[in-house]
Amino acid sequence: MAPEDFNYSQRKDHFEGVDFYELDELLTEEQKMVRLAVRDFVKKEISPYIEKWAQETHFPQEIVKKMGQLGVFGSYLPTEYGGGGLDYTSYGLMMQEIERGDSGMRSTASVQSSLVMYPIYAFGTEVQRKKYLPKLSSGEWLGCFGLTEPDHGSNPAGMQSRFKDMGDHFLLNGSKMWISNSPKADLALVWAKDENDRIHGLLLERGMEGFSTPETHNKWSLRASCTGELVFDNVKVPKENLLPGKSGLGAPLMCLDSARYGIAWGAIGAAMDCYHTALTYSKQRVQFGKPIAAFQLTQKKLSEMLTEITKAQVLAWRLGQLMDKGKASTTQISMAKRNNVAMALEVARECRQILGGMGITGDFSIMRHMMNLESVLTYEGTHDIHLLILGQHITGIPSFS
Ligand SMILES: Cc1cc2nc3c(=O)[nH]c(=O)nc-3n(C[C@H](O)[C@H](O)[C@H](O)COP(=O)(O)OP(=O)(O)OC[C@H]3O[C@@H](n4cnc5c(N)ncnc54)[C@H](O)[C@@H]3O)c2cc1C
Repeated sequence: MAPEDFNYSQRKDHFEGVDFYELDELLTEEQKMVRLAVRDFVKKEISPYIEKWAQETHFPQEIVKKMGQLGVFGSYLPTEYGGGGLDYTSYGLMMQEIERGDSGMRSTASVQSSLVMYPIYAFGTEVQRKKYLPKLSSGEWLGCFGLTEPDHGSNPAGMQSRFKDMGDHFLLNGSKMWISNSPKADLALVWAKDENDRIHGLLLERGMEGFSTPETHNKWSLRASCTGELVFDNVKVPKENLLPGKSGLGAPLMCLDSARYGIAWGAIGAAMDCYHTALTYSKQRVQFGKPIAAFQLTQKKLSEMLTEITKAQVLAWRLGQLMDKGKASTTQISMAKRNNVAMALEVARECRQILGGMGITGDFSIMRHMMNLESVLTYEGTHDIHLLILGQHITGIPSFS
């Protein structure tokens, strides 16, 4: 069967949900409308082009304004700052639908909402909120979040980026690595230590002297998302650009909680897209005189995938409830991020097998999802680090160092 016969991304049923446990009954009408709006957006603005963007390592910057117009950025922040005033489940559903299209596109949305807008809202001054949040929510500005450094990934507490108080300004030196959106970002939220080793958030605007954002090339993953460094060479940062509301490592970790929550939903989207593709393909692809869907081993794969997707959906939905009540703990979020991303990666690998040789081509979305999910498994806390976070919670004994 040729890919053009399959025409997977244009199929009417391709974007239908995977809802084996009738979880839609747990969603409000507003949540379902939000999901539909983002699903339609992805169908129109992302899916037809994403393979080309990924093959060409192209970050479609125009998508940022389009996502802004749709209301994707800061959806759970108050409307007076340009947010959507929606609940966390709606935010999760948005991430799910965007990641059905591509994890890189979801990364752009997650960073903007949870890692840039959220901390400005939660830790910023009223002036900072009014100055930056409307521009970020409309997509006029793109933001990035600089925590990881070349020598400090899983252990951000060891960061070496530092700033000195020079009286009328701060002087920042150091660098960050693996920063999503950095090469195109208008605003960078940078985490750095003061002279007392205390971590603070600083807002850096593109164009500040001594501040550069070189792009990271040769990625096999998240190819439609731009990634780069942040380099600070004696950057004079105005004092009013420090986020005063919270300092210490707990501040960036709070932002990561919100982003990891979105990833737990997003990964389900990638898994659904792979599952749908493999299911449809397996009914059409004939070998030994039968559709491959008729073979028990294919049915085992599909049954196990549906089971795992369903379990991940229940986890994400419940976590959304806890987020809305302000009760979700870091460890609960770790469990959902870790489980759902690993689930999606496993689903993508199984689906790739179902498609045989066709599964490795860019004519289908599966291999792209699979490569993307390798990054998602690592960023915002690696798969193993989240396991250790849970281990510490269960035993009371930290095993990181
Ligand atoms: C595409 C992409 C986008 C990213 N975007 C951002 C971003 O926007 N902002 C940002 O700040 N960062 C970003 N990151 C960085 C990401 O968060 C880090 O890559 C991640 O935290 C892991 O750090 P590391 O790569 O330095 O790996 P390391 O910390 O060097 O870890 C390597 C391996 O060692 C294991 N390990 C480390 N410590 C322990 C331990 N104590 N016990 C057991 N195993 C351990 C890890 O689990 C991992 O398997 C991004 C990364 C990627 C790949």
